[in-house]
Amino acid sequence: MTDDATIAERKMQFLFALRSRGVTDKATLEAMEKVDRGNFVRGIFAARAYEDMPLPIACGQTISQPSVVGLMTQALKVEPRHRVLEIGTGSGYQAAILSQMARRVYTIDRHQRLVRDAQALFDHLGLGNITTFAADGSHGLADQAPFDRIIVTAAAEDAPGPLLAQLKINGIMVLPVGQSDNVQSLIRVTRLETGFDYEELRSVRFVPLVEGLGKED
Ligand code: SAH
Repeated sequence: MTDDATIAERKMQFLFALRSRGVTDKATLEAMEKVDRGNFVRGIFAARAYEDMPLPIACGQTISQPSVVGLMTQALKVEPRHRVLEIGTGSGYQAAILSQMARRVYTIDRHQRLVRDAQALFDHLGLGNITTFAADGSHGLADQAPFDRIIVTAAAEDAPGPLLAQLKINGIMVLPVGQSDNVQSLIRVTRLETGFDYEELRSVRFVPLVEGLGKED
């Protein structure tokens, strides 16, 4: 078998694994088929890009497990006219998937280096509807608020107040919350006219949401 055939085979298994773990939304699967995870993993881990596991990236962070990316994306119910805010750019993989489904994606990371690398990758891939920011994302992005959708890919104890405030009425936010570093609950928050509705989706494991900018950049 040639290398190309091997990669095609691995990509098929990748999509099969997503489906078997509950990622069934058509738009999500299409976006995940289009965005090649191989572009977002570097060095010795690149060979494992199509496996359903989180992998290390720069700055001691991780690119999330593909099935978790898929489940979070489908829970977000993104529509083509939406403006979406992501906290935790990391490798840029989740933002790239959202960019296929939404009008505009704003993504923030506290590590300048990750933001720089992700921006270079978005330019290279021609993903012109993503805007990156190096900042503490727990404050959101007041300048661009309100958002139709917000996704947080790092775990906080609770949904940060500024993010709740920057969600439109009928807007949806998906995020991991919990006190433990080991296991958190993935929740979906819907903003109603009169308050917020919270649903618990499943347990997950994310790196923590940390205050302030990264020091080691
Ligand atoms: N969505 C990413 C994975 C994110 S890992 C991907 O698709 O690859 C979590 C990221 O959240 C890390 O890159 C970390 O630097 C970032 N992060 C943690 N706390 C943050 C904060 N307060 N503001 C912005 N980013 C934060």
